[in-house]
Amino acid sequence: MARYTGSVCRMCRREGAKLFLKGDKCYSQKCTFNVRPTPPGQHGQARQRKMSEYGIQLREKQKCRRAYGVLEVQFAHYYEKAANMRGVTGENLLCLLERRLDNVVYRLGFGASRAQARQIVLHGHITVNGKRVNVPSFSVKEGDKIAIHEASHDIEHFKALREGTGRTLPQWLTMDAENLTGTVSTLPRREDIDLTINEQLIVEYYSR
Ligand code: SF4
Repeated sequence: MARYTGSVCRMCRREGAKLFLKGDKCYSQKCTFNVRPTPPGQHGQARQRKMSEYGIQLREKQKCRRAYGVLEVQFAHYYEKAANMRGVTGENLLCLLERRLDNVVYRLGFGASRAQARQIVLHGHITVNGKRVNVPSFSVKEGDKIAIHEASHDIEHFKALREGTGRTLPQWLTMDAENLTGTVSTLPRREDIDLTINEQLIVEYYSR
């Protein structure tokens, strides 16, 4: 599957927002976006011109897609699903993305970034309700227990998590650090999602 392999900080600069793609660096003063918030490229600074309505909607869609590390086609499927659900389409979309297993693993602090969390899932280190799940797009449900597989408990990265992840948990998740287990206590709501995304612009993009 084709995945972007260039500089991830470049994506933050392109979208004009911190997307938290690089782990601990994102939370430090060294964050590239703090140092150089201008668009990438030789003429990035000079190229800051007024965008069309379509351009603004497109950028918002890209920002959301890149933050969750989802490919174009898959993102369109999420939108379709969100549009067919009851409630506000934009909010449904964000909540569906938030329920992805790789995102939950990231939110629990098992991975420093969503990309690392995705690797952790792919490598079979995660169980959901006691069963190994290695599908990053797996959608969690209320009451699900997400844990590090017992066979992986001795890996240094996971051992260190027992001391605490240093991550602030969203309200919809709870964590038992000693047993390396998180629980989906309730499904995420829009107000639980801290990303600065204007989901209405994404709805407008797909409604053209
Ligand atoms: Fe974005 Fe993180 Fe890079 Fe900062 S350090 S620019 S938040 S990926």
